[in-house]
Amino acid sequence: MSFRSGFISIIGRPNVGKSTLLNAVIGEKITIVSAKAQTTRNRIRGVKHLPHAQIIFVDTPGIHRRSGTLNVFMVREALSAMTDVDGVIFMVDASAPVTDDDAFILGRLKKAGPPVVLVPNKIDRVEKPALLPLIERYGALFPFREVVPVSALKGDGVEELVEVLVELLPEGPRYFPEDMTTDQPERFLAAEIVREKVFAFTHQEVPYSVAVVTESFSEDPERGLISIEAVINVERDSQKGIIIGRKGEMLKRIGTAARRELEGLLGAKVFLRLFVRVTKDWTRNVRALREFGYE
Ligand code: GDP
Ligand code: MG
Repeated sequence: MSFRSGFISIIGRPNVGKSTLLNAVIGEKITIVSAKAQTTRNRIRGVKHLPHAQIIFVDTPGIHRRSGTLNVFMVREALSAMTDVDGVIFMVDASAPVTDDDAFILGRLKKAGPPVVLVPNKIDRVEKPALLPLIERYGALFPFREVVPVSALKGDGVEELVEVLVELLPEGPRYFPEDMTTDQPERFLAAEIVREKVFAFTHQEVPYSVAVVTESFSEDPERGLISIEAVINVERDSQKGIIIGRKGEMLKRIGTAARRELEGLLGAKVFLRLFVRVTKDWTRNVRALREFGYE
C-alpha cells in the first residue's frame, strides 16, 4: 500500500470543539505556545502519524462576523488557506441550529474547491433523531464529501473521521519525523533561522531549493544546553555540494551563524548539528510547505 500525506484544516465557528477534536485525534494534549518570532499565518497544529499515512492539521485564521459585519480581510485570508489544503473539516455544533455564518462560510468554500467533510460535533448532547434533520439542513447548503458525526470530548467517531481524512490525501512522503506530533515553535524557529542563513550565504536557485526540517530538539535545563539536529533538504546533488562547500566551509558558516542567533533567541547554549539531504519528493512540496509556514 502506498503512503499518503497531506494537509487538512479544521474550520468552524468558535467553541464548536475544534481544539478538542485535534487533541482527540493526535492523542495527546497539544499546548499552543506562541513564540515571538513566529509570524506565520498558517500554523501546523498537529501531525497524526499512521502506519500508512501522515495527516498534517493546519490552523486557519478564524472566520467570523464581527459586530454584525463580516471581517472581510480575515475571511479572505482564511479562504486562501483553504485552497491549498487537501481537505477541510467543517465542524459544527450538533446541539445548535444552523447559523448565517455557517451558510456564508459554506458559500465561500464552494469556490475554494477542496473536499469538505461535515463534522457535527457534541453528538453526546443530542438525541439521534435530531441529528438527521440537522445534517440535511447543512447538506442543502453544500455538497459535502462525507458526513462524520463525532463527540470529540468522548472520542466517538474520531477513528472513522481519521479514516475518511486519509482517503482525501494524495500519495506523498512522510513530511515529519514520527516523534513530532505537536506544534513546537522552537523547532520552527530553529529551521527558520537555518534557512535564513542559507539564504544569506548562497545564491541563485539554491536558497529556493531548500527546505529545512528540525529533526530533534532536546533541552538540558540543568546544563542550560539545547541540542538541535536539523536537515537541510535540497533538490539535487549539485546543490548539496554548494551547501556543504569546499571542505565543509559553507555548512560550517551556516551552522555557526544560525547557532549564534539561536543562542540569543533561546537564551541558552546551543549545540547545532546540520545535515544535508537530497530529497526530491520533499522539494516538490516546498512551495506548499512554505505556504503553511513550515520551512
Ligand atoms: P473551539 O473553539 O472550536 O476550539 O472549541 P473547543 O475545543 O475549545 O471546545 C469548546 C467547548 O466545547 C469546550 O468546553 C469543550 O469541552 C466543549 N466540547 C468540545 N467537544 C465536545 C463534545 O464532543 N461534547 C461536549 N459535550 N462538549 C464538547
Ligand atoms: Mg480552539
